[in-house]
Amino acid sequence: MTKKIIFLIVTLSLVLIPLKAQDYLIKEIVSVEKNRKTIKKLQEMSLDFLMERNNRIYIMVGYNDFFKLYEENIPYTLETYNFYPFKQKKLSPQGGVNGAFHSYREVEQELLNLENTYPEIASVLKIGESLEGRNIYALKISDHVHLDENEAEVLFIGCHHAREWISVEVPLMLGKYLAENYGNNSEVTDIVDQSEIWIVPLLNPDGLYYSIHFYRYWRKNRRDNRDGTYGVDLNRNYGYKWGYDNSGSSPNTASNVFRGMTAFSEPESQAIRDFYASRNFQAMITYHNYSQLILYPWGYTEELTEQNDLLSQIASDMSGLIESVNGRIYVDEPASSLYLTNGDTTDWSFGVYGIPSFTIELPPEGWEYGGFFNAEEDIQPIFNENLPAALYLIDWSVQNFGSSLRIPERRRMIPEKWILKPNHRKKQLKQGRRIIRDSQHKPVKREKIKDSKVKFNPPAQSPKSKTKNRKEIKKS
Ligand SMILES: [Zn+2]
Repeated sequence: MTKKIIFLIVTLSLVLIPLKAQDYLIKEIVSVEKNRKTIKKLQEMSLDFLMERNNRIYIMVGYNDFFKLYEENIPYTLETYNFYPFKQKKLSPQGGVNGAFHSYREVEQELLNLENTYPEIASVLKIGESLEGRNIYALKISDHVHLDENEAEVLFIGCHHAREWISVEVPLMLGKYLAENYGNNSEVTDIVDQSEIWIVPLLNPDGLYYSIHFYRYWRKNRRDNRDGTYGVDLNRNYGYKWGYDNSGSSPNTASNVFRGMTAFSEPESQAIRDFYASRNFQAMITYHNYSQLILYPWGYTEELTEQNDLLSQIASDMSGLIESVNGRIYVDEPASSLYLTNGDTTDWSFGVYGIPSFTIELPPEGWEYGGFFNAEEDIQPIFNENLPAALYLIDWSVQNFGSSLRIPERRRMIPEKWILKPNHRKKQLKQGRRIIRDSQHKPVKREKIKDSKVKFNPPAQSPKSKTKNRKEIKKS
């Protein structure tokens, strides 16, 4: 008996020690009952929130978090295995480990090809260098592309977060679309003639590389934090209300929302900071996934900005345009609607430059539809639905060029042609649909994915028993 106990202790410690060391890699999903008391406690614990459903909050927890939940006397239900399998559509085999999604080298090649093919309107600029020495590129699309004309400037950014592969594709495809359709499509030609469109499709190339080759769920950049952990969350590293509190970002290096040692400590966020200083942007969209949301400041506080009418109007119009393409609903709301974030791109962009700034969380809607995994065949439809919203924001910037948010008498307006008919957009959301902001969570124990055919181990249960499990969740 004693032998058995000793054996058990030894085995357990063998299992648990590496678990603890890799806390930031291994996560489980648990749900807890939603009530004021638990929400407050959970926020103080700085956890990765997943979503809310049927009055329960789903969170990602690491090994240490289980102890915290226990100490705080918060009952929880382990849910990890109720989330498998994701619905993953077929992936095509071509294109290397990341399939049709672009790697750093492939992005670089695409950008240079665009510049070569359309030298009159496309130009590639290096705006910085990542920690590991990869280039951070900006693609400029404009008539007289080599001149700095007095025109509205709009910025689109992709891939702050490594695992959000689709967020590279949408801005990259926007650049291609504009270049390819200039001269053929009058709307595109008009817009390109009157503006300077800047696209940074891949802000976190080191993280993307790591996500493709080593750990699919990698989120942060690849900063060596010198304590055995890696990575700063670039979308918590911006210098407006940076580190405002510990719910909107984390001082803990192991956290997935680690904000860095100082604001703008990272070369990738510095690249955006310096790029803003050298340009005169009128508006900005930064793409992430997943959740299908259009978020606008503030993220650090639940208070609304002075420009809330304008921001919510633009967001709601963009949402309507997106929905009109494939019927997918992107909910538009202030970034703080569910949980707080501080040090993110949009708060900084709006807080410092006063320009309309949006985070678009691309599909899917939820974890259960694939989470960070988008099927290759969904890349095009996702781009298609985001195109009119991007064109709208460029057009809005052109129409409002020369006015300033800070000069009240020249209030920015929505161009008339974009004013949408009432009832255009049904705001009816599926009941109980609640989503995490900025997709902080990551799933479990899946450290290396070696090929493009993402493999999961579905639990051995029939669809029927899955339904049964779901019902049991509601009761618990
Ligand atoms: Zn993200």
